[in-house]
Amino acid sequence: MVSDILTPEQLKKANPVFGQLSFDDHEQILFCNDKDTGLKAIIGIHNSVLGPALGGTRMWQYANEWEALNDVLRLSRGMTYKSAITGLNLGGGKAVIIGDAKTQKNPALMRRFGEFVNGLSGKYITAEDVGMETSDMDIVREVTPYVTGISESLGGAGNPSPITAYGVFMGMKAAAKYKFGSDDLENRSVLVQGIGHVGESLVEHLTNDGAKVIIADINEARLEAVSAKYGASIYRGNDLYSEAVDIYAPCALGATINDDTINKIQAKVIAGAANNQIANESVHGKILQQKGIVYAPDFLINAGGIINCYAEIEKFGKAEIMRKTENIYNTTLEILNNADKNSMTTLDAALTIAKNRIEERKNKNS
Ligand code: NAD
Repeated sequence: MVSDILTPEQLKKANPVFGQLSFDDHEQILFCNDKDTGLKAIIGIHNSVLGPALGGTRMWQYANEWEALNDVLRLSRGMTYKSAITGLNLGGGKAVIIGDAKTQKNPALMRRFGEFVNGLSGKYITAEDVGMETSDMDIVREVTPYVTGISESLGGAGNPSPITAYGVFMGMKAAAKYKFGSDDLENRSVLVQGIGHVGESLVEHLTNDGAKVIIADINEARLEAVSAKYGASIYRGNDLYSEAVDIYAPCALGATINDDTINKIQAKVIAGAANNQIANESVHGKILQQKGIVYAPDFLINAGGIINCYAEIEKFGKAEIMRKTENIYNTTLEILNNADKNSMTTLDAALTIAKNRIEERKNKNS
């Protein structure tokens, strides 16, 4: 028991959940534990004013449970603003499963996780995130209807990653237009960090546009394969952030813009798929603004995936998915211009629009 480990005074100060730095008025947090399958998961519902909280499930080997909780709190909050700014009638939620997706994921564990999702009766709808495949969502679908990102053969919209990549590409082009005066990426150097599901698809768009693509990943086999397929050069240095590139595209995990990296970054534009790229929004967002580095807010430009998931709920097809995703270009440009006009960080400019939409709906509902 925690009370056996901590003194009453320490316990009072600990506030392990509601007192967390990343706790931001989340509505509900569900801790899921199943001895038989070894499932340990946390589902976070940040806000459901605009609709059911939709967000993917991440399976990751967290250093500890604290890190997992922190991640689900940050990710679910990001989903709220992502759906709000994209104009979707969805709230923000996310789930994390603690464990190694390569060795600990199996159908029984995924089914048990699905049962926990089902228990929330539609308040939370899941999908894939890091460590998950469309086939995992198909298994979850066996026990709950509250899942998206399922196979097209089962009536779903399929893997959202290519759509996410297309949205990131649109957002990147808008940021290039704003910074360089042209959205043509031909001969622009772009460093893509993380060439997984989204990163590889982004590399394809960039290559087709004539960009000079540099790739980085911790997975050597993927580096070789993606480099061979698209002719991208592999980053072999040990100080990626100091690389003098036009555009840095974080497509691995979050918080890569942090105290250690912020003053090294040489890129003129940051536009990528990873969620929660900025470790400390108020501090690091401001520094980027001061340095004149254009930051395309992650939750805005990586919304293609959620648009794809939303299509399964609202039953619209590929053409509408692409139209909505392409619109990320216009929204990004509008937000970058707004930020400039109002001397705000681009993150604050995007958050203001998203929060206003939620507030308006709340007032209408009350
Ligand atoms: P993925 O697991 O398929 O790919 C992640 C890649 O990053 C892997 O190749 C991995 O080896 C690499 N990686 C991990 N740590 C790294 C490090 N320190 N340095 C370099 N590479 C590293 O995941 P994904 O689905 O491509 O998602 C990528 C990011 O985009 C995640 O942050 C995810 O939350 C976000 N995102 C994904 C979607 C989607 O549709 N898949 C939608 C929105 C946001």
